[in-house]
Amino acid sequence: MEVKTETDYVWHHIQKACAFFAAMEDFAETINSKGFDTLYLHLDHPDNKQSFSENLSELIKKHGIEAFHYQLPDEYRLDQQMNDFCRSLDIPSHSFDSEHFYTGRTELADFFSGKKELIMESFYRAMRVKHQILINNDHDPEAGKWNFDVENRKKLPKNHKPNPPLLFDNDVRKPYDRITKAKVKTIGHIEPQYLQWPINRKQSLQLLHYFCENCLPLFGTFQDAMHTDEWSLYHSRLSFSMNTKLISPTEVVNTALATWEKDKKLIALNQIEGFIRQILGWREYMRGIYWMKMPEFETLNYFNYNKKLPSWYWTGETKMNCLKHSISQSLDHAYAHHIQRLMITGNFALLAGINPDDVDFWYLSIYIDAIQWVEITNTRGMSQYADGGIIGSKPYTASANYIHKMSNYCESCKYDRNDKVGENACPFNSLYWDFHDRHREKLQHNHRLSMVYRLWDKMKPELKSAVLQRANDCLENLDNL
Ligand code: FAD
Ligand code: SF4
Repeated sequence: MEVKTETDYVWHHIQKACAFFAAMEDFAETINSKGFDTLYLHLDHPDNKQSFSENLSELIKKHGIEAFHYQLPDEYRLDQQMNDFCRSLDIPSHSFDSEHFYTGRTELADFFSGKKELIMESFYRAMRVKHQILINNDHDPEAGKWNFDVENRKKLPKNHKPNPPLLFDNDVRKPYDRITKAKVKTIGHIEPQYLQWPINRKQSLQLLHYFCENCLPLFGTFQDAMHTDEWSLYHSRLSFSMNTKLISPTEVVNTALATWEKDKKLIALNQIEGFIRQILGWREYMRGIYWMKMPEFETLNYFNYNKKLPSWYWTGETKMNCLKHSISQSLDHAYAHHIQRLMITGNFALLAGINPDDVDFWYLSIYIDAIQWVEITNTRGMSQYADGGIIGSKPYTASANYIHKMSNYCESCKYDRNDKVGENACPFNSLYWDFHDRHREKLQHNHRLSMVYRLWDKMKPELKSAVLQRANDCLENLDNL
């Protein structure tokens, strides 16, 4: 059922809203054609009460339903709704766990039980062994190494042209019309005749095979690279298909492994390990943290931040080239890759002191794959450090140095990446030092930041105060940067 409680809890990107409805309808048609008796309720149907519980109550009454069975949702909000609804029923109800993850809801909490730190790497290694993925002799990592991060993360060389992304042209004019006629508030751009995202299993499998053959060979190498002319590089863009359960993480991992097995010269170990780490490691880890830490997690605000998100997050109209590109492509494609999310938009919000509620709202709105269990853990946890270090061992912050190292954004920017002081200085540079200075009490004992504080302490007092002055000017004029 298409309901207003789902379209209205956040301002979804129009491509996300259309892709969800189109995928739902396609799935209903698929199972109908296999002889199942389904009922599909459109947003504008006169009987639609616009909430799951009210529609379900009506259906139960109308059809004389004797028992209610459902698959556990992935979001806490919906889980609560379903629990409340089942309690209100006078017929039996039963829920089934999702089969679309490697782990059950509480597996991570059980794994870390009694441990002080929730380290992703130890969880990931245990998952590799449990599922015997890239493992020899029952417990040894393939080629004797668990992690190939140092071989990955290269900048895109000049004149290197990645393979173009595989795009679809799904006609979603019908759901688009329903959404616009119902005056649902959305963001972003769309050409409703040509939705580029996969909306069914067949297309998702096509995208998976395209990725394995054309992008996996260089996935790890350029995983963190950013470029003004490329919006998806060697990334898979499979998160929407996996999050909406069009395909399962197991089949993604198995297909990638099979492609690697077939030609280990074409796909080196660092590429396949880098990809599997994202799915078997990070994706499952975030799901486990979510179920372990909700609902408290969504209230965490370690730095007590309360600033509003600058208005250009919704338009891309900023002079900072890295942010302009990352935000504009998000509005155009409902997509940015991990490093753009973490080290450009996330990094800026963290340095600028934006309220994590606002930051969550933005991330939950703008991406095609944004569903709270994986959005909030990445945003409030990994990117904003609002959890005080549950997920990351230190805040992910960077100055222009890192952005220049991984992209060509600085080359055509109005701001000077080499300056910290003065009105042309890159705002990231002064905000970076200001952030560490402001939060010294909370961060200085983190051993991963000792170098940062040593460098700051060595800076001449006049330079320090000029840097803090520039940061202050930026913070007071966020909307005009
Ligand atoms: P690829 O780079 O091709 O990676 C393959 C797959 O690995 C992804 O499809 C995804 O399923 C998984 N993956 C990779 N990194 C992560 C991660 N950190 N956490 C969980 N899974 C991961 N991902 C979402 O699915 N939904 C979100 O709402 C979301 N919000 C994010 C917000 C922030 C601030 C950050 C830093 C990251 C967020 N991510 C989110 C994680 C990651 O950025 C996306 O999964 C990824 O960019 C999706 O693109 P892709 O399919 O091309 O990924
Ligand atoms: Fe971004 Fe600064 Fe580089 Fe401009 S100079 S692109 S603002 S990092």
